[in-house]
Amino acid sequence: MDSCLFCKIIKKELPAKFIFESENAVAFPDINPSAEVHILIVPKGHIGGVQDLDKESGGLLAEIYLVANQLVKQYNLEDSLYRVVVNGGKAQHVPHLHFHLLGGNLNKLV
Ligand code: 5GP
Ligand code: ZN
Repeated sequence: MDSCLFCKIIKKELPAKFIFESENAVAFPDINPSAEVHILIVPKGHIGGVQDLDKESGGLLAEIYLVANQLVKQYNLEDSLYRVVVNGGKAQHVPHLHFHLLGGNLNKLV
């Protein structure tokens, strides 16, 4: 989607440091971190939010959680605190589905 911030990041029209990239997803640090580790895991295809998922979305969701699994290990979060958070509706500010991986000291709720 042309006007979407995360679509622009995915197309590299806006800067972000990709920690992970595959055919279907990217991960990059949140610009305004709420915890020591705050990474956004984002499907490449434009999906507005959880409300737009359907039965075909299962494979993509599994991939996203496997990226989270890999990052949890990469950042040694198993033995500290971590959360995977998805905001929706009025709690969601960027209308392109994304998963917050928060770890270390969780200062505030996202
Ligand atoms: P939401 O409230 O939609 O769940 O979260 C959106 C997140 O995107 C926020 O945590 C915000 O800091 C982050 N964010 C907004 N704009 C940018 C940006 O241009 N680059 C990066 N890396 N993160 C962004
Ligand atoms: Zn988008």
